[in-house]
Amino acid sequence: MRGGARFVWPAHRLRESEEDCASQARAARANPTRGGSIRSMDCDVIVVGTGLSGLVVAHELAAADRSVIMLDAEPLGSVGGQAHWSLGGLFMVNSPEQRRLRIHDSEELALADWLGSAAFDRLEDYWPRRWAEAYVHFAAGEQRRWLHDLGVRWFPLVQWAERGGYAAPGHGNSVPRFHIVWGTGPALVEPFASDVMHSHRVRIRPRHHVTSLHADGSGVRVSGRVLEPTDMPRGVQTSRTAIGEFTITAQAAVVASGGIGGNFELVRQNWPARWGSAPQRMIAGVPDCVDGSMLTTTEAAGGRVINADRMWHYPEGIVNHSPIWSHHGVRILAGPSSLWLDARGQRFPVPLFPGFDSLGALRHVINSGYDYSWFVLDQATLSAEIALSGSEQNSDLTGRNLRRLARRVRPGPTPEVRDFQERGVDFVSAGSVLELAAQMNQLVGEHLVDGQALQQVIEARDLQVHSGLGKDPQVVATAATRRFLGDRLLRVVRPHELLDPKARVAGRAGSGGPLVAIRLHVLTRKTLGGLETDLDGRVMRADGSVLPGAYAVGEAAGFGGGGMHGYRALEGTFLGGCLFTGRTVGRALAASL
Ligand SMILES: Cc1cc2nc3c(=O)[nH]c(=O)nc-3n(C[C@H](O)[C@H](O)[C@H](O)COP(=O)(O)OP(=O)(O)OC[C@H]3O[C@@H](n4cnc5c(N)ncnc54)[C@H](O)[C@@H]3O)c2cc1C
Repeated sequence: MRGGARFVWPAHRLRESEEDCASQARAARANPTRGGSIRSMDCDVIVVGTGLSGLVVAHELAAADRSVIMLDAEPLGSVGGQAHWSLGGLFMVNSPEQRRLRIHDSEELALADWLGSAAFDRLEDYWPRRWAEAYVHFAAGEQRRWLHDLGVRWFPLVQWAERGGYAAPGHGNSVPRFHIVWGTGPALVEPFASDVMHSHRVRIRPRHHVTSLHADGSGVRVSGRVLEPTDMPRGVQTSRTAIGEFTITAQAAVVASGGIGGNFELVRQNWPARWGSAPQRMIAGVPDCVDGSMLTTTEAAGGRVINADRMWHYPEGIVNHSPIWSHHGVRILAGPSSLWLDARGQRFPVPLFPGFDSLGALRHVINSGYDYSWFVLDQATLSAEIALSGSEQNSDLTGRNLRRLARRVRPGPTPEVRDFQERGVDFVSAGSVLELAAQMNQLVGEHLVDGQALQQVIEARDLQVHSGLGKDPQVVATAATRRFLGDRLLRVVRPHELLDPKARVAGRAGSGGPLVAIRLHVLTRKTLGGLETDLDGRVMRADGSVLPGAYAVGEAAGFGGGGMHGYRALEGTFLGGCLFTGRTVGRALAASL
């Protein structure tokens, strides 16, 4: 399911968009300084960005009979933005899916988890905190019904992301809340994209790169460069060669341009000093177009970006063997059993087990002095617990294919994980610990992992497992996760020893099959800070006043307020944040115009 979206573009809209672009290009060539469309108040609202958040705004405005022009630097085939690539995990609270699995959730518990994770501590957190409260209320209430009415459905086994591991009320989800959309990201984009493409109130202008925004009490003016046409598939980096310029005016503009995760320069520039220096090597979990350019443009127009040093990157990235975008990496979604070791083979401290505290683990990697770490496991654990994030890495869920999905309960990795094991550059496998350590060292080109020491780490862990109870917090926590049916069925392998008990001294692999080590890189993904907005999504200026006519949604708005997640996220809250900010702003604009 690489490239194409599931929804079918109406032929007349495709033609119309192509004709629009062609005529703009002709006009731009004839008059390169003015470009094509310079018509006053062409529409009620301009939306910059055709990702999920922009689509939701346009969907709401079209429903209220307001006219919209959507601009995007990418071609039409990229509509949906990052959400198309996403796993479609949504944070939902006290849902029927949770209740069927005997999970007792509530808005009160979810908000306590949120505030424990966010740890708001700045003056700038005024609007972010208010957005957080409103969002948790939405996730515990209206969100599911609204989406269900639009045809969205969910995979019944709710997943447990960001388990935390700290005393309440610290970071983490107390219960599973990650609801995967049946059909993953493309199925979440589908109702909004298809609605927008069929609406006569919305016009989409692909290959329009916005470089300037002017907003005052009399309206907004959005200008930029018309880019040369391209037939690059979705996600592939496209040319920035301009063939002209454009200016469009409207009553209001909504910035829906995503974050900065595809722009390593900006990531490094905003890297929080409290984490230490940015890793020398990073891989990208988002396409190149997620470049943050529009944040700079909105700042130049008077808007204020806050919490730019709050980001959500992952320590469990692997290099994509078939890259689509630059430095393309994929995030491993791991169950809790793998041993997590730093570059020198030292175990991560408690509670930094796989899937517990992404940011804590990320900081630990950075402080280790190296820019990578390791999972050490065996083949049985890999088969049960190593999953990958992304729609294209989960063809069974994305294709809504029950027969293929049923294979997940049988032994063996998913086809996508198997591909990585066979073709990826980050996997090594061996029949004994000493051989495994040798392969790890060979992969990184340095003798950093001592084979004997690694064997002791694994032996000590195995003795704990063998006891049936144990004091090792990871062994105890892993056993506890299996009390939850979803984990037992699909995500957490039966506790077992990695080494053959009869040949422990020789460090030979046990009944779980060969030993495996996976090298993990830092993978950039989400921007937690962003444009400061009030509860209607109006962009604020540095002096606390509103920048008239300018609104922001989705990742560009830090998913609401300029950083509703605070320092840490609970997962599934990014797509949810796009839905909530898009819906709120669309409705606020419809009411005010
Ligand atoms: C592989 C992957 C898996 C994910 N899984 C999940 C998940 O399971 N759950 C979850 O909650 N989140 C997930 N996310 C995150 C989530 O998908 C994104 O945070 C969200 O989709 C961002 O949407 P957006 O509308 O804010 O921005 P985007 O989707 O980034 O869209 C922004 C659009 O604006 C355009 N643009 C930018 N600048 C300009 C400019 N100057 N001029 C014109 N156009 C411009 C871009 O071309 C782009 O099309 C995942 C992301 C990825 C990549």
